[in-house]
Formats: sequence, C-alpha cells, structure tokens
Amino acid sequence: MNHAQLAALGRALRLLGEHGEALTSDTPDARLHEIKADMRRALDLLDESVTGNAPATRCPEHPQGPVDESAPDLCLLCETRRRAARRSEFQGGRSGPAPVATAPSRYGVRADRPQPQQRWLPEAWNGQEWQLCGTPRRDRREAEAYLAAQRRGSRPAMAYRLVHEFTDYEVLRVWGTPVHVDIEPMGNL
Ligand SMILES: [Zn+2]
Repeated sequence: MNHAQLAALGRALRLLGEHGEALTSDTPDARLHEIKADMRRALDLLDESVTGNAPATRCPEHPQGPVDESAPDLCLLCETRRRAARRSEFQGGRSGPAPVATAPSRYGVRADRPQPQQRWLPEAWNGQEWQLCGTPRRDRREAEAYLAAQRRGSRPAMAYRLVHEFTDYEVLRVWGTPVHVDIEPMGNL
C-alpha cells in the first residue's frame, strides 16, 4: 500500500466509523444510501490496496500453504512438523535416550531420508478421467504458472486441476523388539 492509498483508505474507514456513531433508529433512508455508497468506496479502496490472495492459514510462515482444518493455525506443514515432534517425544520417553545408529544400511536410516515432502501435480481432464499433464513441481506457484500456460495453449484440455501430494512417514506397527546389538567383527562370520 503506498502513501496515497493509505491516506485515502484511512479517510474512508474513519468516515464509516462516523456513520456508525451517528446511526439511530431515526436515520433516514437517504442517509443509509449514503452510508452504502461510502462503504462501497471503502471496499474499492481496499481492493486496490490489497495485493495477493487472502491467506489460507493463520501461519505466518506458510500463509498460502496447504490447510489442515484440525490444526490450531490451519497449517498442514507446521502441524505435520508438530506431530512428528510429539511422536518422537513419545517414543523417546518410552525407550530412553535416542539410539545411535551403528549399522550402516544401504537403505539409510530414518534420519537420512528426506523430510516430509510435498509436490503439486498438474492434471488435465481427458474426457474420461484426470491425468497427469506435466512434471510434478516442488513449487505451487510454478505448477500454477504451468497450468495457466497450458490453458492458454493452442489446444487446451477441457479442464485442469492442481493436486497437492504430501508424503510423511509414520510408524504404524512394529513387529518384534528392536534391541541394540553390537556388530560382530567381520572375522567371526
Ligand atoms: Zn506453517
């Protein structure tokens, strides 16, 4: 918002406040129409001042991120992080200090694997079903720009959609007891 916009919007909002103060049961219709016009003007000024979309979440870090309705800040990304932290706290509480990985595995250990990842999949309606119509993107804006370009193309599909894919790791069940054992020296094998 530039200075002129700020001043104009401030004036328009203060005027609405004055209308509110002056409002009584005797306020004539003509006055109400005036108030309506002033509200419209204030809304128009707001529209001009606002840039970007309204935030989807209440998270300052991911205002446009994916939504988790059950999260206090509606942020799926942060809620996933919090869940993971609670999980490891719970597991840590049961089994004492975090175990140290001693055996290198060709598959790596949990911590070696990537953090929860999300991707945005551009899909097009082919007349029967939705199908992937481009490379999944790590960046939502990039995926949206890609779809916008597809729609402007020479032979656009009937419809497009953007699918959010989110992967996380969650231990669902454990078989056996993972006890720490020392690795036998190679000579003993
Ligand atoms: Zn967040």
